[in-house]
Amino acid sequence: MNGISKHKVILVTGGSGLVGQAIKKVSEEENRSDEKWIFLASKDADLRDLEETRAIFKEYKPTHVVHLAAMVGGLYKHLKVNCDFLIFNVRINDNVLQCCKEMGVKKVVSCLSTCIFPDDTTYPINETMIHDGPPHDSNFGYSYAKRMIVVMNRAYNMQYGCRFTSVIPTNIYGPNDNFSVEDGHVMPGLIHKGYLAKHKNIPFTVCGTGTPRRQFIYSIDLAKLIMWTLREYDEIDPIILSVDKEDEVSVQEVAEMVKEAFDLKDEVQYDSSKSDGQIKKTASNSKLRKYLPDYKFTPLRQGIKETAEWLEAHYETARK
Ligand code: NAP
Ligand code: GDP
Repeated sequence: MNGISKHKVILVTGGSGLVGQAIKKVSEEENRSDEKWIFLASKDADLRDLEETRAIFKEYKPTHVVHLAAMVGGLYKHLKVNCDFLIFNVRINDNVLQCCKEMGVKKVVSCLSTCIFPDDTTYPINETMIHDGPPHDSNFGYSYAKRMIVVMNRAYNMQYGCRFTSVIPTNIYGPNDNFSVEDGHVMPGLIHKGYLAKHKNIPFTVCGTGTPRRQFIYSIDLAKLIMWTLREYDEIDPIILSVDKEDEVSVQEVAEMVKEAFDLKDEVQYDSSKSDGQIKKTASNSKLRKYLPDYKFTPLRQGIKETAEWLEAHYETARK
């Protein structure tokens, strides 16, 4: 056996994004001698193209893959380009899993999202309920593309014995997010608006009524849990990676924490002409808690403060 083959070679698709950069940070801090991590960006290969995907897999010959790459965006981007979310993500996922199979990758962890669950459902939602009904209209394209990963993982396992699994995070936030006010998710959108309120005196305005509820996971916590999934979790079926359901908060509560992080004095304003999207999507983390009963999540107020500080320090180069 040569030196290289003793290592896991772990290829992270979407390695330049919010979650990819958090995994990079944690893996660099751990600095394990038995793991070599490679972080891909879209400039390395457009994963919508099978030949580009195959070429990058041949170049790095991964033994393990964390598949994060996706067309990603907040509610208002989904409302604009629902079809692109479907078609691009189906292509990316199909190409990546096909190349993983062709190259004999030992394990793949792909990333889904709690917004893919049925809209008309009971709460809390758990891993068994993914296919129980149609997703919310607002992100229907993205949801069906992501749901197909679960189907493909099962099929690759049934026919070829592949160890392809998936994780289901709730709303994620942290350093290196896409802080676009137009196209980003609620947390980076509000943090960017908090920054603009502080530095440009623009009113701090929340889209919608502020009543929808969400569970937020800090990207560093999620990175650690995805790395645990890659190393320890042995099921093909997905696992929800979420804070406890008691930690769900309203958008209004988030806005107040952002206001506090930037020390804003004026009242938060609400633009109720904008859509609220899904009212809630409360997820159960009881499967995760069976494996990791004592895992401690970063408190939301602390994570928001750290992310706001990161944006202050990196404003010029941040995605926005
Ligand atoms: P992100 O910050 O927007 O990063 C997306 C990543 O995908 C980037 O590295 C991007 O590369 C890459 N990518 C996009 N299109 C690509 C293409 N055609 N070919 C190759 N690479 C491509 O996203 P994220 O928030 O880290 O999301 C990571 C995963 O978590 C995704 O699967 C997403 O669906 C899922 N998720 C996210 C959230 C959330 O709140 N953010 C919630 C639940 C689940 P470039 O940097 O080069 O563009
Ligand atoms: P979702 O969690 O998948 O629905 O997507 P988002 O992360 O975009 O969150 C959307 C929720 O946050 C909706 O209830 C929006 O009305 C609310 N929201 C409030 N302000 C903003 C904002 O500035 N950007 C975004 N994306 N959503 C906002």
